[in-house]
Amino acid sequence: MNEWIKLSLPHKSGTEMEWIERAYRDDWFVPLGPDVNEFEKRLQHFLGTDRPVVALSAGTAAIHLGLVMLGVGPDDDVICQDLTFSASANPIRYQGANPVFVDSEPETCNMSPEFLEKAIKDRIKITGRKPKAIVVVDLYGMPARLDVIRTIADSYGIPILEDSAEAMGSEYKGKKCGLWGDYGVMSFNGNKMITTSGGGALICPDAESAARVKFLATQARENRPYYYHKVIGYNYRLSNISAAIGCSQMETIDSRIARRREIHRLYSEGLKDLAGVTVQKNPSKDFDSNFWLTTVLIDPACGMTPDKIRIALLDRRIESRLLWRPMHMMPVFEAFPYYGSGVGESLFERGLCLPSGASLTDEQISVVIEALHDILGA
Ligand SMILES: *Cc1c(COP(=O)(O)O)cnc(C)c1O
Repeated sequence: MNEWIKLSLPHKSGTEMEWIERAYRDDWFVPLGPDVNEFEKRLQHFLGTDRPVVALSAGTAAIHLGLVMLGVGPDDDVICQDLTFSASANPIRYQGANPVFVDSEPETCNMSPEFLEKAIKDRIKITGRKPKAIVVVDLYGMPARLDVIRTIADSYGIPILEDSAEAMGSEYKGKKCGLWGDYGVMSFNGNKMITTSGGGALICPDAESAARVKFLATQARENRPYYYHKVIGYNYRLSNISAAIGCSQMETIDSRIARRREIHRLYSEGLKDLAGVTVQKNPSKDFDSNFWLTTVLIDPACGMTPDKIRIALLDRRIESRLLWRPMHMMPVFEAFPYYGSGVGESLFERGLCLPSGASLTDEQISVVIEALHDILGA
């Protein structure tokens, strides 16, 4: 029997202990230190941008502070992609605002521009105010139709927060994901493209906003000899030890992205003749997903559901996962408005994520492909 084949395990670059030891030796195991600055510089260089990047304790913290910076407050409407991880939506509620969920379109699994515009118009009609922000997600690494969404957002003067937690290295029309919104979000949780054992970053529009984000992320302490606070603060900064791990992980980011794309290519090749299974692909040359997770859609006509396949894969020590369940189907978000036609629901009912970690070998991918042929071909 094969070793367990996991969905997306962290991948070591090999120099993590050197970075941690150096930070420890130089007494930088206090919260802030030089590795935080270095990590931010490496992220900025990777993104190829002048925009400042602020390292934070989680992607969720980055979404929260992004919403704070956009002035989201109690009873505001915030448009949010419906098909996503709950961390895209929870911070809207932290601010006492109301999420307005917008369905996906089938090719990218991301926000439908059509329903986005419908939602904006309808909310203005109902509330007399435009939504305060739009949270768009690049799901599984696939870029949303970010230019179309930007045009709609601009025509109503609504800012965008791009949740690119899963899309590190993805590009749309030659520009990196995370750079399309007024604010952009990165995540370094254990299963993402790189890990700091937990962490995130907020890509800010300019130096002034980045300074404000750092201020809010370190308890909003005013510059006085005693503790003095004018606004609510947070403890959201990334620790120096975590940033040291991040610096190490950045040494191999390009090869990790290349490997996830190669794994997607192997699946596309190996599953192309298997009836009932469609591997998600870049819809056109404009899209260049990092394929953080390769997802497949299962045709109901083949007689198997994604969950039955998931269980059959588990029997073969292969971990797979159903797609994100749409937010409007969650008890916690049921009461909030939803604009769509059930595309997200249908994707949830038909979709499955396959093991895609950058440390998986070609042989392991072959084992998964053979298992799928075995399960579905029978
Ligand atoms: C992982 C993830 C987040 C949250 O990031 P954390 O670093 O785990 O807080 C937010 N949105 C999406 C789409 C994610 O996949």
